Amino acid sequence: MNEEVVNILFSIALVISFIIAGKFFCGKIKKRNLIASVIEDKCKNCGYCVHICRHHVLESTVINDKKLTFVNHPERCRGCGKCAVNCPEKAIKMVEICSKN
Ligand code: SF4
Ligand code: SF4
Repeated sequence: MNEEVVNILFSIALVISFIIAGKFFCGKIKKRNLIASVIEDKCKNCGYCVHICRHHVLESTVINDKKLTFVNHPERCRGCGKCAVNCPEKAIKMVEICSKN
């Protein structure tokens, strides 16, 4: 095997090792998480999700005489999906995000 071929193979191995290392470190730094998101059109504002979320992520409030249920504290959401599964209107979807913890 001549020197040129060895250099090319070495370069390819180096690139592959960077890709693998990148994936490894990115996996260490970032993690995929799920958070709840209320689909406004479907939500009937029954408040059940607010009641069952023990992390107090969701809130129902009245704005301009209109009741609104929304994710007030997304940072508290554990992505458990309990609210989505129990919503009678299927008005909560779990959204994937990338976070540091
Ligand atoms: S349980 Fe569903 S319909 Fe009821 S307030 Fe929550 S999102 Fe809206
Ligand atoms: S996914 Fe779990 S923690 Fe997040 S809002 Fe729904 S019930 Fe609360």
